[in-house]
Amino acid sequence: MLLKNGLLALETGATKGDIRIEGEIIKEVGQNLPILADEKTLDLEGKIVLPGGVDVHTHMDLDLGHVRATDDFYTGTVAAACGGTTTIVDHMAFGPKGFTISQQVETYHKLAGGKAVIDYSFHGVTDRVDDSVTAEMKSLINEGITSHKCYLTYGGMITDYEAMKVMELAAETGVMIAIHCENDGMIAYLREKHLKRGETAPIYHAKSRPAECEAEAVAQMAFFAKKAGDAPLYIVHLSGSLGLDSIRLARKNGQKNIFVETCPQYLFLDESKYLEDDGLKYIMSPPLRSPDNCKALWDGIASGDIITIGTDHCPFFYGKEKQLGKDDFSKAPGGAPGVELRIPLMYSEVSAGRITLDKMLSLCCTTPAKLFGMYPKKGVIAKGSDADLTVIDPDKKVTVNFNMLHENTDYTPYEGLPLHGYPVMTFSRGELIAKDGEFIGTKGRGRFIKRGLPDLR
Ligand code: MN
Ligand code: MN
Repeated sequence: MLLKNGLLALETGATKGDIRIEGEIIKEVGQNLPILADEKTLDLEGKIVLPGGVDVHTHMDLDLGHVRATDDFYTGTVAAACGGTTTIVDHMAFGPKGFTISQQVETYHKLAGGKAVIDYSFHGVTDRVDDSVTAEMKSLINEGITSHKCYLTYGGMITDYEAMKVMELAAETGVMIAIHCENDGMIAYLREKHLKRGETAPIYHAKSRPAECEAEAVAQMAFFAKKAGDAPLYIVHLSGSLGLDSIRLARKNGQKNIFVETCPQYLFLDESKYLEDDGLKYIMSPPLRSPDNCKALWDGIASGDIITIGTDHCPFFYGKEKQLGKDDFSKAPGGAPGVELRIPLMYSEVSAGRITLDKMLSLCCTTPAKLFGMYPKKGVIAKGSDADLTVIDPDKKVTVNFNMLHENTDYTPYEGLPLHGYPVMTFSRGELIAKDGEFIGTKGRGRFIKRGLPDLR
């Protein structure tokens, strides 16, 4: 098949040209490619062609014990596909007490296999770091699991001692350690203080997890990674400008292997949402912050301090699971939908002139693929890469409405937002799987991606 005349988002810059797909692979990229005998053609004049989106932060089917995220690997990846994302790397849930990473990987192969409609992988997760865990992290490199997540808050948090141990493992092997950075003690104290005063409304979720608690944890992990020998450290879902200051300090100290993600919710939404009647919809950690913080994150993108956009997609129904928090914010499950709108939201900012198409390509496709060992198979339009492509109609104007989305929940945090430009076709390994907001692929067609070590260049 030959895709003709699209504006191609190439690593060397946006260029008008053609893409020849043979089977699942991009065979050729160039200008005025000749049409071969029996070759199907598709004219993409006036359209933008990006590599399929790579979202390295989702939580499909996340089991929290008392509740479960409401998108499984089928519904969640259908939503991703309709929104122009063709690859996810999912952050797994903690397993039962004493679980091993391998057990969770096995569990997740069962959750995703036969369901996912786009290609997928998993980040390892652990709630402790001892010799058996570091040995497992080493052996899992051969299984294509080359990144692991640790938390500094919640039930499964690791200690400082364990953080040092895992950073050394990362420096030694090159695996990426992703950290959820929030200071647990500060949160525990502030949450208790507010609840004792009867301050149970959603805004106190934000007040009990201030930007300081994120920045402290980011700074701490940066120092640990530095001491371990510039260990590859990935800060997930950065939400505040103080945290960004911690990153800049680390960079000034010579650290190169510190990588920062933010998410659309921290760029497009602010904490005033918690004051609305349906504030529970926005309970997530870290919380939404002030507009100044949103602006600082955009500045961080411009300065190159923030280099990836993930979604932290973790949906619940407002009418159901979120209501657990109606009398006490701390009882609401944290998380919100977002996997379907990441590419549309970011592209709309390209239309608005806030970021360039090159920047979007890097943030949403190429850099996440590189950092998590999937490049150049994923995240780039190039000869030999998987034919994962997202075609955007730059003229299509859409006002976000929950009913147009495929995420399995009853709301979107982005309701009413005007978007300029929207994905109209999604190809995964050469197959057109979504068109004009409809999924047209088959359940279970997605494949596990055996990832290589992070490409830290
Ligand atoms: Mn998190
Ligand atoms: Mn998360």
